[in-house]
Amino acid sequence: MEPSKPVKPIYLDNNATTRVADEVFEEIRPYFCELYGNPSSMHLFGGQVGAKVKQARERVAALLGCRPGEVIFTGCGTESDNTAIQGTLAAYPNRRKIITTRVEHPAVLAVCRELENRGYTVVELAVDREGQLDLAELDAELDEETALVTIMYANNETGVIFPIEEIARRVSERGSVFHTDAVQAVGKIPINLAESEIDLLSLSGHKLHAPKGVGVLYVRKGTRLTPFMLGGHQEHGRRAGTENVPGIIGLGKACDLAQAAFDVENKQVKALRDRLETNLMIHCQGAMLNGVKDKRLPNTTNISFEFVEGEAILLMLNQFGVCASSGSACTSGSLEPSHVLRAMGVPFTAAHGSIRFSLSRYTTQEEVDLVVEKLPAIINRLRVLSPFVPK
Ligand SMILES: *Cc1c(COP(=O)(O)O)cnc(C)c1O
Repeated sequence: MEPSKPVKPIYLDNNATTRVADEVFEEIRPYFCELYGNPSSMHLFGGQVGAKVKQARERVAALLGCRPGEVIFTGCGTESDNTAIQGTLAAYPNRRKIITTRVEHPAVLAVCRELENRGYTVVELAVDREGQLDLAELDAELDEETALVTIMYANNETGVIFPIEEIARRVSERGSVFHTDAVQAVGKIPINLAESEIDLLSLSGHKLHAPKGVGVLYVRKGTRLTPFMLGGHQEHGRRAGTENVPGIIGLGKACDLAQAAFDVENKQVKALRDRLETNLMIHCQGAMLNGVKDKRLPNTTNISFEFVEGEAILLMLNQFGVCASSGSACTSGSLEPSHVLRAMGVPFTAAHGSIRFSLSRYTTQEEVDLVVEKLPAIINRLRVLSPFVPK
């Protein structure tokens, strides 16, 4: 990217990663150079750190409505997803079937596809034009062969929320293990694992204002799971390796902040998201919303601008310091339209011009209004240049 004149970023790419909250940063600062002990050590110096890790575990558990002993700290959301899937299959060696969806994050989808290469039966449930599942299709696929059902709580590209509690009930009734990738949901919508049939749940620190490189796998008490990382006795032998102490403490603080401000913050974020979305839909030519309107994360909007290239839109937005995403960060770089939009049957000419804006508690109305002011003209310019616009 060209190093042009410095502009303050207008960061609307919070589903890719978030800034670390100031409160989180302050909380973890002492754990680098002063309180750097190993929580596994027997001496008091390490013990102080161990106590802080324990507090972090309690804070995560409080946000999720589970027991601290059900929280395993991992290295990232991807590791949590991999562990949930591989660890369940290893615990049920006689079951050879996995059910997932076509719109999962690559941290789930790539694992499932590799397992398919190794001889597992993998069923990828379809979604409709609005990105929603047909639960009858799930019911029809559940059988004694099914080791695991893994379905995301909310989609990272469109924000569409799946009816996870209902899905978990159905899976539990039929005797399979249920995992959900809740990386995008935690902190944005209420989750109460105490009243849930979810067996395994993944989350990631850097999607909720904690540092990168820390995640959680919730493992419901009594759930069979073969550990993925072997070595020391950390995490009660369920995930070996010296803990990412600052990351864990930061994640605990971030969960605390999310819980304290939950309603206010998400209402405010949703109001700004709606302001952005409504105005872009009105003022931009060829704009179409991707994903069902109501059952969506409060911070996400995914809009297609027909006949223009998403990458071109991003480059022009970049001149104003606006950071957004076309498709998902993981798939951009290739010219293939996003697998999520393709699964939804979004026409090729629209999928290519899709932009995801994802807001956070730090997003301001001025920032949203700047996008509303600039984007319609950008779309007009690009449509004039587009060979695809019907003349
Ligand atoms: C970001 C993300 C992940 C991966 O989490 P990392 O901590 O970056 O590995 C997994 N699933 C979803 C839905 C995500 O948005």
